[in-house]
Amino acid sequence: MKKLIAGNWKMNGSWAETRNLTENILKGIEADPSLEDTCDLVIFPPFIHIGVAKEMLTEADSPLTYGAQDCSFNGNGAYTGDTSAYMLRDFGCEYVILGHSERRQYHGETNETVKSKAAVAHSEGLKAIICIGEQESERESGAEKDVVGSQLLESLPESATILNTVIAYEPVWAIGTGKTATPDDVKDMHEFIRKKLVERLEIAENMRILYGGSMKPDNAKKLLATPNVDGGLIGGASLDAEAFLAIARAA
Ligand code: PEP
Repeated sequence: MKKLIAGNWKMNGSWAETRNLTENILKGIEADPSLEDTCDLVIFPPFIHIGVAKEMLTEADSPLTYGAQDCSFNGNGAYTGDTSAYMLRDFGCEYVILGHSERRQYHGETNETVKSKAAVAHSEGLKAIICIGEQESERESGAEKDVVGSQLLESLPESATILNTVIAYEPVWAIGTGKTATPDDVKDMHEFIRKKLVERLEIAENMRILYGGSMKPDNAKKLLATPNVDGGLIGGASLDAEAFLAIARAA
């Protein structure tokens, strides 16, 4: 299975910066065609800048794809401020990130919300990257598997398959902090997630499970070589084209 290397740009960048970052990533991929054989690459600009990526990627005919950082829990209609899965698909997005810990923390998203959004995303043909992960206090109290296990099972809709769903394990305390889970902890948690997925979906041996949380060029090789780590969801380092490409090369 090819690794999936996903860059979550969060709420960063001007129009010009977005163009610049996209251009530098495109140049890096063009200079190293072997990247395409070893990994799938996707970027997640803020909503307002997805059009920049669409235009540049289409023009360059690049293997790099793009997606959105969230979508609405419902179809088109009276939902001021929301963006529907239908609109994203119509705009050429392949993936949508759902249930990121920042959405859970600042927008009160629950497993139920994530499940509804994933079901709508699937019905429109989008691939959902469903994020799960424990808080530091939950790990300290030894509850990390209970938390991650219930987030996983309660966030997955009936429509989930290996083709339309990717799981991202992101320990909340490792996001944007420079702290990463140890390769042993990552191995242990990814094995646990795999087991839960196999119990729930018969063919989940092939469902991608990404690791996210301060992945950088200097720790990517070790993390990406860990069993059951099928790629990375990268925040901070994905805002630097060289760092993002170095992580892809590490895959
Ligand atoms: C993320 O936001 O999904 C993430 C993993 O961020 P960072 O790489 O900055 O920790």
